[in-house]
Parts: sequence; structure tokens; C-alpha cells
Amino acid sequence: MKIPYARPDITPDDIKAVTDILQTDWLTQGPLQERFESAIAKYTGARYAVGVSSGTAALHLLYLAMGVGPGRTIWTSPNTFVATANASLYCGGKADFVDIDPRTYNLSPEALAKKLKIHEKDLPFLIVPVHFAGQSCAMEEIRSLAEAHGIAIVEDASHAIGTAYQGRPVGCCQWSDAAVLSFHAVKIITSGEGGMILTNRADLYERLVRLRSHGITRHPELFSQPNPGPWYYEQLELGYNYRLTDIQAALGLSQTNRITTYVARRAELVRSYNQALADLPLTLPWQDPRGSPSWHLYVVQLVSERIKKTQREIFECLQRGGIGVNLHYIPVHLQPFYQKLGFRVGDFPEAESYYRRAITLPLFPGLQLDELNFVVDQLRAILLD
Ligand SMILES: *Cc1c(COP(=O)(O)O)cnc(C)c1O
Repeated sequence: MKIPYARPDITPDDIKAVTDILQTDWLTQGPLQERFESAIAKYTGARYAVGVSSGTAALHLLYLAMGVGPGRTIWTSPNTFVATANASLYCGGKADFVDIDPRTYNLSPEALAKKLKIHEKDLPFLIVPVHFAGQSCAMEEIRSLAEAHGIAIVEDASHAIGTAYQGRPVGCCQWSDAAVLSFHAVKIITSGEGGMILTNRADLYERLVRLRSHGITRHPELFSQPNPGPWYYEQLELGYNYRLTDIQAALGLSQTNRITTYVARRAELVRSYNQALADLPLTLPWQDPRGSPSWHLYVVQLVSERIKKTQREIFECLQRGGIGVNLHYIPVHLQPFYQKLGFRVGDFPEAESYYRRAITLPLFPGLQLDELNFVVDQLRAILLD
């Protein structure tokens, strides 16, 4: 048996949606992009949605539109994909980190409160909580700390379409200025590559739409020079080509219909894993009672004191057994690039200790129960050997 850690679920409907688009004149940024944006806005309850070419592009444009730049620093979780921090550097800004909560593996409000006290004189410009594995951060606490210091929040919700917090969908932006989604092939829904920014702010929306396409506008009311004719457009600032194609949007839109089904299936599989692994020397995912996770990832931590093998031996054993395990995430500040910027081993001890114990097991909607049991049996044999 060979089981990947993630696998996109592509149905005949998805395939038809994509091939239908190939027979139209709209291959890029056409009506499907708008329909995809509307569908995601409706699902999350956000007023505006801006589809872009990737989650990374979404972070880059959002940071730019928020005003990240030279002399400004974003604070995020070290337990994230490098893109969350990198996007600030694209803008000429800096990135720093706030250690994680050892229960949720999300940015810790307590660590944030401490760090804000220490940095009273050089506060961050933006705080970027990441809803790791599809579990919402403690947005209530993070929001009140940020507000008390006049700092804006944007959410990296790449794992979290389908997640709820306090009964509201992540992406509704009740506790932030905007949220970013990724539709990379391993995420909850996919458009191949793709991303989206959600916001309730009209000004941010207008700016994002412009930055997505070279900084160009075709709205005459925004022109700064006389309008010479119908061919005319103006470039008002330096933007990018970060558009989503209609081919991608067709796939994303088709997948949007199944977010609820996917999240329910993931929850079911997580319950099966939790039951089957309960007696092993593992720390299983803890669920914040205020939230309802999308379970983008299923991560277990090894209780090393009770296991004879190392993390690496267990990881390699599972791989040899055909199980596509993974590790989310190598703390960003441990990357050589960030070490060169001055970060050190020991800077964020909770994220580092988590990293030394974590293993991501296969989880995707198409995972069958016999496959899940195969993973469980292998892991049991390796741990108890
Ligand atoms: C996937 C991911 C990204 C980047 O998204 P892409 O669509 O791959 O560019 C950013 N942040 C997190 C937390 C992610 O998981």
C-alpha cells in the first residue's frame, strides 16, 4: 500500500468545468474568476474577495496594500510556511516571530503579550496569525492585544477555508482587516495554484484589484490625466501580474461546492485517528472548544520519553512502509536564510520543541478507512517495537 500525506480530490464535475472553459474565449481573468470570488465571499461571509495566482501572491499584495515596507515589521508564527514571512521581505519590510501555544501550535496570545511589552518602543506594523492545521488562532485575545497597541491584523488562513471560530467562518474578517487563502493542490480545496484575499474594507479591495494587474485602472473616475478615449487606462502605481486564470477559477469554483463535505469527512477521519491512536505514546491534536477546525493537517507529537526510536527513525520507517508522512513546519527562523538575518536556535523554544516531536500523518478526503488503519498499525508496530 502506498499512501500520500495529501491528495487532491478531482471529480468528473471538476474535469468538465475545466474542459468547458478551454472551449471559451476566456482563458484568463474572465467570468469564472468573478464567480469563484463571489462563491468564496458568500461561503465565508466576507464582503470582498480578490482571486490571485497563489497564496504567496495573496500575502504579497495584501502586505503591500496594508502598507508593509521599509522600516516596518510583521510578526507571525514561526510554525508556518516560509511564505508568510517572506512576503514582508518582498515589500522591503522585516519579519519577526511570536512563539506558539504548545496546545494548538498557533501563535500564542501570552507570548504576544510578553513580546509587545518588550517591544513597546518598536511595535510591529502588522500581526499575522496563521490558523495552523485548520484550527483557528485565539483571535479574540490576539485582537484585543493588537487593538490596545493600534496594530492591524491580517490572517494567513491558507489551511482554514471551512474552519469556524466562535460560530463564524474563518475569512469573515470579524477579528482582522483581511484573510488570505491558498488553493495549492494539497490545501482544503484546490485550483492547481491559486489564492484569494478576503476583506470587508472597500479601500483595501480596490487597491488589491489594481495591484493584481500591474497597478492599472480602467475606472475613469480614478484617472489623474484627461481621458482621451475608450482605449485609455492608467497605471497609478507599481503592480504585478498576479491574476488567476479562468482555468484555475473553474476548478476552484467546482471544488467550492464540496468544502462542507470535505471538512465533514476530514473531521470523521480525525475522530478515527484519535480513537485508534489514543493508547500510544503520542500527543494527539487538541481542539479549542471555541472553534471547529477544517483539519487541513493531522499532526501527532511523539512523547519521546516513552519511545525508544528517534523522530527520524520513526519518520523513515513509515516512509519505507509506503506512508507519505511529512513535517509541518520546520520553524521559519531556523532556515539558513533567516539565520543569516540574525535569528538563532533557541529564539522560539516552543516551536522548536514541537518541531522535534511532530509528524504529519496522511489526511485527505479520499483516504479510506483501511488505509487509515494501515497507517495506524504501522505506527503502532514502530512505536511499540
Ligand atoms: C500553502 C501556504 C502558503 C502559500 O500558499 P501558495 O498557494 O503555495 O503560494 C502560505 N502560508 C501557509 C500557512 C500555507 O500553508
